[in-house]
Amino acid sequence: MAHDETRLSAAEQAALLRSVQNVQTAAVRQLRDQPDPVSVIRFVCTVQRGVDKVVQDRAQGGVKPDCRSGCSHCCSARVEAMPAEVFQIAREVSRLADAARAGVIGRLRVQVAAAGDALLWKHRPVCAFLEAGLCSIYPVRPGVCRKAHSLDVRRCEAGSADIPEDLGLVLDAEALIKGASSAYAQLGFEARGVELARGVLLALSDPTAEARWSNGERVFFPRDDTA
Ligand code: SF4
Repeated sequence: MAHDETRLSAAEQAALLRSVQNVQTAAVRQLRDQPDPVSVIRFVCTVQRGVDKVVQDRAQGGVKPDCRSGCSHCCSARVEAMPAEVFQIAREVSRLADAARAGVIGRLRVQVAAAGDALLWKHRPVCAFLEAGLCSIYPVRPGVCRKAHSLDVRRCEAGSADIPEDLGLVLDAEALIKGASSAYAQLGFEARGVELARGVLLALSDPTAEARWSNGERVFFPRDDTA
């Protein structure tokens, strides 16, 4: 679900960089205004609403993706989420009834095992949160899922690696996601995107993860210098 920035012109890359920096500056201000751990994690909802608004604005401007409810071709792609998004999703999962929660955790384990096994990953297990063709965590799904779209569903059906997208939508949404991520990093939070299944499984299995992350610890990539 990531856009290949090497395909942007120099002018488009420069514009994206400026947008990312503007979002980062505004996000740092907001995060500093409300630095308590709950608000810091909830801030990511503001970012997600921003991505939703980008999608709506582009639709009003005439962009017509082929995506329909129940269509889930893109839900077998690798998804990377911001740590704050992972914690929001883990909270939702922990509120499920025992049987439903156990089902999600089982599917997360299958996905994590597949991600570490090149042969298995070739078969691309669908997202652990996809149930009967629908996203079971739709209200808290990550920003990258919110911006994912296709202008030609036939390419999705054919499993094409080259899905036509609306460039304006992609760039505006990516500016929000990358700007917010950079703001978290600037304030000392681990910010690198984490593979969704691995991140949520870790957050569910370690009750100290959220508090340690809020304290500036590296939770998802303990030995990573770039996080
Ligand atoms: S989180 Fe939801 S929208 Fe995103 S890949 Fe999984 S099922 Fe699809």
